[in-house]
Amino acid sequence: MHMHMPEQLVIRPPSEAKSLLVRVVRGCNWNRCNFCGIYDLFGTPYSSRGKDEVIKDIDALFEMYGDIFKTAFLGDANPLDLETGFLVDVLAHLRSRFPRLERVTAYGRASSLSRKSREDLKTIREAGLDRVHVGLESGSNRVLKLQMKGTSHKQLIEGGKKTMASGMELSFYFLLGLGGQDYRHEHVSESVKVFNEVKPHFIRVRRLFIHPVSRLSSKVLSGEFREQTPEGTVLELRDLIAGLDAEGTTFACDHANNYLQVFGKLNEDKERMLQFIDSFLSLPENQRAAHYDSVPSVI
Ligand code: SF4
Repeated sequence: MHMHMPEQLVIRPPSEAKSLLVRVVRGCNWNRCNFCGIYDLFGTPYSSRGKDEVIKDIDALFEMYGDIFKTAFLGDANPLDLETGFLVDVLAHLRSRFPRLERVTAYGRASSLSRKSREDLKTIREAGLDRVHVGLESGSNRVLKLQMKGTSHKQLIEGGKKTMASGMELSFYFLLGLGGQDYRHEHVSESVKVFNEVKPHFIRVRRLFIHPVSRLSSKVLSGEFREQTPEGTVLELRDLIAGLDAEGTTFACDHANNYLQVFGKLNEDKERMLQFIDSFLSLPENQRAAHYDSVPSVI
């Protein structure tokens, strides 16, 4: 008798390093963002999976590890685009196989979230999905369009608010530098509006890393996209925090490629975070440059 081998995920958020990883869909159903290319890079085109296959994977994961996990993550890129009934059945099976799970999370695109009804999101929450990670990237329509993100400022607010109302935790990911040098101010100010309106549980910050195989890389070469400078991304971070009025939101730069790792709870830690950035910016130029050189550029 051969053992069923569960499929592996391509990528998961850093906060899910110890999680049980369950693949409910392959790749990204959008897969067009200019800066991404992650699923192309790993040769994973989008395709759906049958519910029976996913259930078999969950059983096999249980056979392999037992009920040892506290957290689980559903992949790949956008499980929230799946039918509500599919998600509910998968979550119910996962929860019954792994009763010790305290948290189950997934990535979700804002366009998919805004398409789901309030009731559907609540049903998904009740079936056991505790948190969605949404790649907001930018709240600016111009930047979103330029980068082919396929979502809008309005969808981010609608999808974000609906998710918050469902009782799920919402984690928004913001990409410093995504507007390049040209749309820096709009990139930040429009994102601030979304954050202040939705007040998500988490704002997680990354710095844009332009992978050589991404479409954005050729736009840099052609001069169409003027890449943000290292100091420019630090100034963006400062402007972002300065604009935030999101009581209760946890702010985190939890990725290795950030030049400054700033953490705090809003609004109480806002001044402390700004002071931290300002003390860095007041260092002599050669020290700032040496710091920028010392930080890795990673996906
Ligand atoms: S950034 Fe997210 S939504 Fe865009 S192509 Fe990549 S995985 Fe898909």
